[in-house]
Amino acid sequence: MTFRVRFWGVRGSVPMPGASTVRFGGNTSCVEVRVGERVLALDAGTGLVGLGRSLEPRRALEVDLLMSHLHWDHIQGFPFFDPAFRKDALVRIHGSSRFTESFEEAFAGQMGGVYHPVPFRSLPATIEFVSAGGGQTLDLDGQVSVTMADLDHPGGSIGYRIEYAGRSVVYATDHEHFTFVDPALLALAKGADVLIYDAMYTDDEYVGNVGMHRVGWGHSTWQYGVRTAREAGVRQLVLFHHDPFHDDAYLDGIERLARAAFPNTTVAWEGLEIDLLP
Ligand SMILES: [Zn+2]
Ligand SMILES: [Zn+2]
Repeated sequence: MTFRVRFWGVRGSVPMPGASTVRFGGNTSCVEVRVGERVLALDAGTGLVGLGRSLEPRRALEVDLLMSHLHWDHIQGFPFFDPAFRKDALVRIHGSSRFTESFEEAFAGQMGGVYHPVPFRSLPATIEFVSAGGGQTLDLDGQVSVTMADLDHPGGSIGYRIEYAGRSVVYATDHEHFTFVDPALLALAKGADVLIYDAMYTDDEYVGNVGMHRVGWGHSTWQYGVRTAREAGVRQLVLFHHDPFHDDAYLDGIERLARAAFPNTTVAWEGLEIDLLP
């Protein structure tokens, strides 16, 4: 039995490669979850390119791509995702049309017109779109359950809870807290083993004590991550969707502070793996 989480892209907003981000990584949001024989991918940021290349060329490859939303940093890896170019692959893309006329058209649009040399419609893989959104659940093989919640973010965002063999991981990125923890997120994260949380800012950055005032930009802070983890009773907190200008040394500092408040905290880095089953 396998239930393993691997981080392929941990940045928010824009890829930020370079000497000062080499340890935590520069790719944007993409997290792989292996459950049994299944491959799930949370978001299609530039980290998805590495995930695609890592998939062994086995027959009848199936990937479920669970999309939080359609902002650039979450879709940009898809046009370079190997399985999309394989005739024997089935890619199911789950997403919400709540804030767009058609999720399918919006997703495919990044490969349309002048934006990309290969039109979406000519991709060799079988690609299916599946409606996702708050309150929906997805059952895979009667063994894996995926629960969803709508999160507060400009244009909306979906949080996912994946459960298998009595363990659970929650993916909650591109989410802005209120003056309290969002009840929808609290319910989604209740008792989870791992909570992956949008910790783009510090509280001081968020309110504008450091740099620009960022209230209303759709992101949260590590302090609210700690608060959510405590209130929801989660076992491990993973801080995610790092600000592109938070370099390795800065993220080390955040990890120290966050661990003092919630000891089982990890600042996500590219290549980090978490095994949910012993
Ligand atoms: Zn983002
Ligand atoms: Zn976003």
